Amino acid sequence: MRAPVAPRADLVALEGYHSPQLDVSVRLNTNESPYPPPPEFVEAWLDALRGIPLNRYPDRAARDLRVALGRHLGQPVERLFCANGSNEVLQTLLLTYGGPGRKALVFEPTYALHAHISRITGTEVVTAERGDGFAVDVDAARRAIERNQPEIVLLCSPNNPTGTLDDPGLASALAGAGAGLVVVDEAYGEFADHSAIDTVGDDDRVVVARTYSKVWSMASLRLGFCVAPPSVVAELEKVVLPYHLAAPTQLAGLVALRFGAEMDARVQRLCDERERLAATLASVDGVTVYPSGANFVLVEAAGDGHDLWQRLVDRGVLVRDFSRWPRLDDCLRITIGTPAENDAFVDALRDALQEVPV
Ligand code: PMP
Repeated sequence: MRAPVAPRADLVALEGYHSPQLDVSVRLNTNESPYPPPPEFVEAWLDALRGIPLNRYPDRAARDLRVALGRHLGQPVERLFCANGSNEVLQTLLLTYGGPGRKALVFEPTYALHAHISRITGTEVVTAERGDGFAVDVDAARRAIERNQPEIVLLCSPNNPTGTLDDPGLASALAGAGAGLVVVDEAYGEFADHSAIDTVGDDDRVVVARTYSKVWSMASLRLGFCVAPPSVVAELEKVVLPYHLAAPTQLAGLVALRFGAEMDARVQRLCDERERLAATLASVDGVTVYPSGANFVLVEAAGDGHDLWQRLVDRGVLVRDFSRWPRLDDCLRITIGTPAENDAFVDALRDALQEVPV
């Protein structure tokens, strides 16, 4: 037997990204939309698919999609870059502006893939702490930038997994604080009442990443994008693989934009449910709920969070267990589901808490 070929030495210690799936009746663990896209969208997309010349590569520049998306967002096409989910957007940003000898600054606790993708691209990860209520304090962030001189600052607003919304001026304040790119991951941006998109300018350093996975109910299709200065978009286009975005995905993104009103209604429904769930949880002894601008809420159990998570699973409800994560002791994250799913969660929670020593 020949010895296996060793991977890159800096990858050996890395663990893969895992989000455990279990076969239960109520799944509130991955921040997907509980609603499929409108049937009219599916019909329109399937009709449009018939027109695709399958023997040809897709439009490399995803021009039609970018033009339509730009119109939807009030942004010029030159500021738009599309990819397979916002994860590929983030990966392309890190391949382009990170890499060996370069640094990315993250504010923990935050989306684990920020640090993970950074490391995979050979970028050194430097960490700053979030303050009270998991907020990024602008002065502390400025000091972290001065100290570390990162090429990329990764913000996440609303932040996964805490739900925290950054102050509206944070991204531009930090863009002025250092020479690096400030990337705001707004995967949940549509669920919040403010966004950094309007701070993206042609000569500025702010980039905002978004996704079709949540609001547009299209997690299965893998489509994300960023709004960035045209000079950044041009660099990303050089780095990303040619023809990376399949024609059916591009078409889905384009056709979905015709259903903006339906999607807005879903966002409103989920935000209303989030507020209803948060208010209910606030009245439950044994958990603390954090304010959220996203389609999930973070709760902290007064007892052992992992134990509570297991008791919820035993009752057929799967939420995301962060209880053993640094800085998130005893915390669980609950994706906002349908009203019936949210009620099932609350019932299971009340029942489980009866058993848990608080
Ligand atoms: N950013 C954040 C903060 C997320 O939570 C997620 C999804 N879990 C993503 C990016 C990636 O989303 P996608 O690749 O599906 O667009």
